[in-house]
Amino acid sequence: MKPGRRMDEFTLIDHFFERAPRNPQVALSVGDDAALLDISGRLAVTTDTLLAGVHFPHGARAFDVGYKALAVNLSDLAAMGARPRFFLLNLSVPAATEAWLADFSAGLFALADVHGVDLIGGDTVRGPLGVTITALGELPPGTGLTRGGAQAGDRIYVTGHLGEAALGFSHRQGRLDVPPGFREDILARLDRPVPRCREGMALLPLASAAIDISDGLAADLAHMMEASGTGAEIDLGRLPLSAAYAACFAAAGWDLALAFGDDYELCFTLPRQRVGAFEALRPAFACGVHHIGDVVATPGVRWSDKGEPYEPARRGFNHFG
Ligand code: ADP
Ligand code: MG
Repeated sequence: MKPGRRMDEFTLIDHFFERAPRNPQVALSVGDDAALLDISGRLAVTTDTLLAGVHFPHGARAFDVGYKALAVNLSDLAAMGARPRFFLLNLSVPAATEAWLADFSAGLFALADVHGVDLIGGDTVRGPLGVTITALGELPPGTGLTRGGAQAGDRIYVTGHLGEAALGFSHRQGRLDVPPGFREDILARLDRPVPRCREGMALLPLASAAIDISDGLAADLAHMMEASGTGAEIDLGRLPLSAAYAACFAAAGWDLALAFGDDYELCFTLPRQRVGAFEALRPAFACGVHHIGDVVATPGVRWSDKGEPYEPARRGFNHFG
């Protein structure tokens, strides 16, 4: 097909979204009125929408739009400790342009292949650019990490580094100058976040509660503590900040790492008696994992910077807007 050529709905689906499923549980995939799945056990089900002009800029690379739309959904499955298996794609596009769709599906399947998830169906409509994905993951019967299981005395950890996506966003907006040597990595963290699926599955038998950091650690940790009926005490000096973040700290302060979001790292709590078992698994956390504070009985999250109380911005996105 010629680049730029417009396709009808069915050619488009055939061409870009129909692929042989890898997973033997998929009895019937794209092409019928519904998919058929042979499942036993428990499914974790989640959905998220990305809209042009809201969640990504008009003119964003189609590859990144496809990648990120799946990544944010897989991140929710990771936070439940589920093994990602299947997803549905609802796509609204202003025009079915071949080049855009080819790039979009390349990004989508690049990540799908890393995690072995099958696209099993969806819907395609003409409209403002937007992508909704529904992802399904498997859990052993009766299991699943939730936000609600933390107990006073548990340790609080986060994976990877915080605030990278915020640096990338602020840099792209021209509000903060990330040094040239870090730019590519930082922008990749914003455009193609890495869902911590393997880490989430490893935590399933160990963590007492978990959440993925989509709205910033301050907001998401508060959600987890509220759901658990507990509080938290966090020492800012323990936050995992990258060399790139350290290089920008004078301009970024703590709040880009605490209140912006889009990091898609996991924040989880660990009962003290499981710290030993967790330490044995540490090599599985190639992204790194850090103990940042502790769960306490008193509700609310208290932050301290070298022993002094600290109050993060409520919403970093607006704060820096
Ligand atoms: P119906 O009218 O029965 O809902 P559609 O014409 O919407 O069927 O879709 C035909 C088939 O293509 C269905 O199996 C549907 O799941 C699949 N499909 C449609 N759009 C997409 C998409 N963007 N990605 C994956 N599968 C899709
Ligand atoms: Mg339909």
